[in-house]
Amino acid sequence: WSSRDFPWTKKLEANNKKVFGNHSFRPNQREIINATMSGCDVFVLMPTGGGKSLTYQLPALICPGITLVISPLVSLIQDQIMHLLQANIPAAYLSANMDWPEQLEILRELTSDYCKYKLLYVTPEKVARSDVLLRHLDSLNTRDLLARIVIDEAHCVSQWGHDFRPDYQGLGILKQKYPKTPVLALTATATASVKEDVVQALGLVNCTIFRQSFNRPNLWFSVIPKTKKCVEDIDKFIKENHFDECGIIYCLSRMDCEKVAEKLQEYGHKAAFYHGNMDPAQRASTQKQWSKDEINIICATVAFGMGINKPDVRFVIHHSLPKSIEGYHQECGRAGRDGQRSSCILYYSYSDYIRVKHMISQGVVEQSPLVSGYNRFNNSGRILETNTENLYRMVSYCENDVDCRRLLQLLHFGEKFDSANCQKTCDNCCTVNSFVEKDITNIAKQLVELVKSTGQQYSSSHILEVYRGSFSQFVKRHRHETLSLHGAGKHLAKGEASRVLRHLVTEEFLVEEVKKSDIYGFVSSVLKVNESKVQNLCFGGHTITLRFPSSA
Ligand code: ADP
Repeated sequence: WSSRDFPWTKKLEANNKKVFGNHSFRPNQREIINATMSGCDVFVLMPTGGGKSLTYQLPALICPGITLVISPLVSLIQDQIMHLLQANIPAAYLSANMDWPEQLEILRELTSDYCKYKLLYVTPEKVARSDVLLRHLDSLNTRDLLARIVIDEAHCVSQWGHDFRPDYQGLGILKQKYPKTPVLALTATATASVKEDVVQALGLVNCTIFRQSFNRPNLWFSVIPKTKKCVEDIDKFIKENHFDECGIIYCLSRMDCEKVAEKLQEYGHKAAFYHGNMDPAQRASTQKQWSKDEINIICATVAFGMGINKPDVRFVIHHSLPKSIEGYHQECGRAGRDGQRSSCILYYSYSDYIRVKHMISQGVVEQSPLVSGYNRFNNSGRILETNTENLYRMVSYCENDVDCRRLLQLLHFGEKFDSANCQKTCDNCCTVNSFVEKDITNIAKQLVELVKSTGQQYSSSHILEVYRGSFSQFVKRHRHETLSLHGAGKHLAKGEASRVLRHLVTEEFLVEEVKKSDIYGFVSSVLKVNESKVQNLCFGGHTITLRFPSSA
């Protein structure tokens, strides 16, 4: 796809320079554009700031017809349209909260064969609920004027991801109705299972996938035990490492945001809070002050951050445990967009895990603006299970004080990373200087046996709970406290069994399978045994070793 011999190449390059003011393409941009312009369905995984917008705005400009863009937030849409209009690219949007006459005006323009718009942005709710819109899309389609369908933030389709939004699931209708129109799905965050889910739900055909490394070499990662003096520790850390620089502190609750901001102000920092309970004008004004460096530090819930493009964020601190590795990765990704060294510090305590778990079960955790207000089922059944599993993975990340943090994060996105390339830019690679190799074959065999004896239908967190001897309601409901291996891993050091289990997955002794479980398509992941590899482990005298710090 990198060839420069496509019929549109010259036009592409000229417009990239003239209209968008870019001297060249960034990695994968040309390839994505060539694939979508050739008519393929394309799925793009590119980190935030990588330049996803250009991959559909440039084709929209040079192709006949209109590009339909589904984007989750009106504020993001407005921002995009402002930039497009500044570049003299005619674009419009439709959303439910616009005046009807204004919507009619745009719809009327769509019926014209000489429609001036090159791009039409809509929210997913609009697609799900507006027959009028669908009729107009039908009409564009029959007149061969529906050039491309773009699904931005495509991971919202998947309940397996951290930003599930029900209306995104209905977007599969677009491919059914307009099978010839190429679809371009874009996201900055997706594990292999999310990707699979999205491709299926959208009905993408022979989809071409572009994925870029999610490694951000200029970000430094640490997890620090959280004490009662956490805010004092944060104050000290900022004064010693990022004095007068700009950063974000993510807090769990609205109250935490206010308390942390107030304390930091007492310590002399220019700090403010930001959360979903403020009125929109107050929120916008705080964000503006921060963008203009009148405030250095924002203490915020995950409601803060979407669409923020401040290049010089020098630190992202998590005052509490994030809800998932994907969310954590995305929040950290707001640091160091300019490529300069920046810190990502996470303060972890097990009691926060209990707190977050409880809040998730009660459905009272503040959510990113991508989903807030929409995710009405967030504390029920399968979704609760998914959220708990995501949280559990976050806990094992925090409790792992051995493996490279980059390796662990990237592994979550299905990306292999050689920890030698970390170059001591995470706490574990810095502090663990010498290792011993420990034989873990026996633990591995027991875990495999446990997966088998429970019928290969449970998640990794459940297997670990049983192995460590939990008597939780779920364990008892399935009578797993009666198994001979229940509690067999009780004696192991904290986090050890979970490391071994992760290792079994990465080495493909166990396979994590996404399971669609009912008519609503709820998903969960279950562990299965890879028989051919396991044969060797159990009967072939194969041994498995894992690195542990030499003091362990
Ligand atoms: P994403 O949607 O992947 O987060 P954007 O599309 O918002 O990223 O692009 C991030 C920034 O990079 C924008 O300011 C955009 O103008 C700039 N950009 C995109 N492509 C290029 C390019 N080829 N050359 C220079 N700047 C680019």
